[in-house]
Amino acid sequence: MDQHVIDEIIERNDIVDVISNYIPLKKTGSNFKARCPFHDEKTASFIVSPKKQIYKCFGCGKGGNVITYVQEFEKISFPEALKKLAARAGITVKQSMQSKGKDSKRDLIYKIYEIATGYFYKNLVEHGSSALEYLAERDIKNETIKKFKLGFALNSYGGLHNYLLKNDINEKILATTGLFTSKNNDLFRERIMFPIHSSSGKVVAFGGRKLHESQSGGKYVNSPTTDIYTKGNELYGLFDTKYTISKKDHALICEGYTDFLRLYENGFTNSVASLGTSLTDSQISLLGRFSDNFYMLYDGDASGRKAAVRAAGKILGKGYNVKIIGLPKADDPDSYIRNNGAKSMQEMIDKAKPIAEFLKDDEVIGVDKKGKLSVLFDILNEIEDEVAQELLTQDIAETFGLSGHAVSSKIRKKRRTFKKETEDTEPSKTEHFTEERDILLLIINNQSLYKKVAQEIDSSYFLTGKYREIYKIMSEHIEDMDNIPALISKIDNDGIRDLLTELSMSDSPTQTIDDILIALKTRKFYTNLKAINAEILNDPTNMELHAKKKEIKKELLKINKKVVRKTLY
Ligand code: ZN
Repeated sequence: MDQHVIDEIIERNDIVDVISNYIPLKKTGSNFKARCPFHDEKTASFIVSPKKQIYKCFGCGKGGNVITYVQEFEKISFPEALKKLAARAGITVKQSMQSKGKDSKRDLIYKIYEIATGYFYKNLVEHGSSALEYLAERDIKNETIKKFKLGFALNSYGGLHNYLLKNDINEKILATTGLFTSKNNDLFRERIMFPIHSSSGKVVAFGGRKLHESQSGGKYVNSPTTDIYTKGNELYGLFDTKYTISKKDHALICEGYTDFLRLYENGFTNSVASLGTSLTDSQISLLGRFSDNFYMLYDGDASGRKAAVRAAGKILGKGYNVKIIGLPKADDPDSYIRNNGAKSMQEMIDKAKPIAEFLKDDEVIGVDKKGKLSVLFDILNEIEDEVAQELLTQDIAETFGLSGHAVSSKIRKKRRTFKKETEDTEPSKTEHFTEERDILLLIINNQSLYKKVAQEIDSSYFLTGKYREIYKIMSEHIEDMDNIPALISKIDNDGIRDLLTELSMSDSPTQTIDDILIALKTRKFYTNLKAINAEILNDPTNMELHAKKKEIKKELLKINKKVVRKTLY
């Protein structure tokens, strides 16, 4: 796709307009502020600059232009984000979207998953009588099967493989789809198929449940990590329930596919399934885009309850609110609703308890008061957010009738050692590199300075890798420097892109370009001098080294006779 089309798409989609469709933006001075949609935070450190048409989070570091925002937020590819924004601005884009190799490969894998989903569904309807029977026995309605595109993998080693080839899919790519074993056999055989959608609605993975208990293999076989799917990053059902979650402002989190489907069928359309008992940080962040309030609705047995407590601890740690629903020991959400109905489930939800109270009243997990407290203290110590930690401290104290001091004494020590460790491992070197940063800032704010800089120094004067990288990019794209949003689209490395955005949003330094150049050169020559001195120490009679040393000294003198002999580090 032509760069000028991309530029036009960027130009015609005002970044403030676009982002404010996703999250509320607040005006502060000449910029806009918000709570960052990419990490969890209490205070707004996400800045959008209408003047520069870029955004930057000073908490997690994410930054970019209007395209990267849509890409990151919707979890879609670069061409898809372009398409969306083009449509938004009424720009007609030809279907030649094969601009970036990696993205077109991802798009192809998405397409393969779409075809596979259709194939499994067709199998279920046409050849899946035993699978349909199984689903009917479990009271899964036909409309649910249709809505969530459940399917059936035949007891065949090459069914899907051949079907894809018939659909003009190149055989070479199949090995990277996660749908086949190393011997090119279908990974899913004789299994009920549950497609897992990303939050933007694309099928990115499958879970396959075995049909007969006697079959070999685990109860569930799941897709491995691929270019379009990272295990533990998605929540089953979220695509269909995200709007209700945001409208009702709370989400129910259950464990498995059938729990989810049962809840959904019974009107609990604000549910998701974590697919496995350990809720991951990225799942919590994903869900946190739609609400701050979560209910853990895991199995009622000891392991389900323990997992719910662990997950609740993680949720608290990220600054969200969470309650736990304690189902009877022998139930999961699926069986509970089947046996007691939706109304009774709602009553259970209404009776959900905060973590400390849930543990205090629990009789299933099987630990005494001391054990319960030790679980809670462990959770307390995992929490980084100080407000969240304070709230849980109070909660534990009140629930268990302890003094707040007694509870907080359990955490302080650990916290202090944690801080000390991080201080020790991160020496504050940064101030020595302000010159590197400053020179980049000056060029960003005034591109005509680049020529002067390039005449005097090259990238080897940058000792910090990331700044050196940015300087190189500037050298290659100096003609784009007056259009930072367009330049950002050309950078593949996320970290470098984030840093460039950050620099673009920072103020120009007060130092002059001459001062900074002198500082950078002086530092470089002192570094060389130091190295030569060390060599001379090893080889004092080597006249070549002495000559080199003299050269460097001369250079230093040339820079500026008045340069004070301050060692720059
Ligand atoms: Zn952030």
